[in-house]
Amino acid sequence: MPDVHAKLSPSSSHRWLNCTKSFDLIESAKVPEQTAGLAAEEGTLAHAVLENLMKQALGKVSAAEFKAERKRLAEEAEKLLGRPAISEMEQFASGQVEFILDILRDDPTALVLIEQRVWVSEQCFGTADAIVISGDTMYVVDYKYGVGLPVSAVENSQLLLYGAGALRIWELVYDIQTVELHIFQPRLRSHSEYVVTADELRSWVDTKVLPAIDEINSSTGSFCPSDKICQWCPAKAVCSARANAMWGFLLQEGMLTDD
Ligand code: SF4
Repeated sequence: MPDVHAKLSPSSSHRWLNCTKSFDLIESAKVPEQTAGLAAEEGTLAHAVLENLMKQALGKVSAAEFKAERKRLAEEAEKLLGRPAISEMEQFASGQVEFILDILRDDPTALVLIEQRVWVSEQCFGTADAIVISGDTMYVVDYKYGVGLPVSAVENSQLLLYGAGALRIWELVYDIQTVELHIFQPRLRSHSEYVVTADELRSWVDTKVLPAIDEINSSTGSFCPSDKICQWCPAKAVCSARANAMWGFLLQEGMLTDD
């Protein structure tokens, strides 16, 4: 996968869709959008393990290619985690592989796209772990390897954006009426799903996403501090809007006095 980062990435969309000034602040404060760490590296590796298994299951790689990639990933996992971990990672990935294979068993003509780059706009794009189209349903399937909190697929803007990007292309070929979003988070035994119609998804893009992108591009947006929106914001340490909101909250709760 090419190492190209979207200006407005789906993974941070809950922030920039709601706080349309955050992009400007992050740029001006020169704080990095992404921070690498062990969990992020482990997540990247877990996705590579899933991809290798999926390619094998779909017959997209030979047995020798699968084995060679598995060996490479096993070495990388052991180096990163200090213990053998490839079997465990494959076990965790197997639920998502089986989910996709089940769709294929029901409909052998289903289209399965792995690690699919999808674009909502020139600046907003990302890579969906899997897009599956069967009949009039498009499935957007995402893999989370984290062990923090279970991530819900319900109104999940990251997956909605993947779905919207895929819909832009594949509605030219298929009569897609329904979009199913699925998040597998096996280390928390979580599988969350959410269903929207294709019309609802198009309407969300028109009324929420494109106006937010316009505001960001024209620097006419506004700050929108809240616990959830600010949670992963790289600029939260330097954001006066968030500081003022916290100050106001503390005053309101009587935890501070304003004299
Ligand atoms: S900290 Fe919160 S309010 Fe401030 S820019 Fe980030 S998301 Fe917006």
